[in-house]
Amino acid sequence: MNEPSVWKKCSTCKKEIPFRSKYWACNVSTCNVKRKSFAFCSVECWDAHIPVMNHRSAWSEEKMAPSREEWARVLAEPTEGKVSLPKGERKMEQPSAPNSDEILVVASKLKAYIRDRSGMNTSKDTLEALSDMIRNAADNAIDKARTDGRKTVMARDF
Ligand SMILES: [Zn+2]
Ligand SMILES: [Zn+2]
Repeated sequence: MNEPSVWKKCSTCKKEIPFRSKYWACNVSTCNVKRKSFAFCSVECWDAHIPVMNHRSAWSEEKMAPSREEWARVLAEPTEGKVSLPKGERKMEQPSAPNSDEILVVASKLKAYIRDRSGMNTSKDTLEALSDMIRNAADNAIDKARTDGRKTVMARDF
């Protein structure tokens, strides 16, 4: 028997990630193309990957590596080409269609803050709720700046 027990190597530090072990994945869709998806041995390694990839908003997800059998099945699947977003839903900077559900807070920093202060975990929908609050506040601030005839949103608009 000479089957590999290693599923992937950590995309950052190259440490081996065995089958059926815990690993962290990046939530950004381009980092999750099935066979070539990024995998990290720790949150730290995922953190290190964000600046490299220039993610503006990202979330790490704790996942379980597939078993050797499951992975073999994935590799055996016919190539489905690119996992592309439906047309018209691509994330582009379109002023007419703002990314109205994008996460606006730095997930790793908020999580660290909450953990440091309380030892608690932070669920993903916390980030969504906070992002909504930020969007609302920003929208109001934009209105104020506009009323003032300014083209810059300032602290005092909040
Ligand atoms: Zn690593
Ligand atoms: Zn990523």
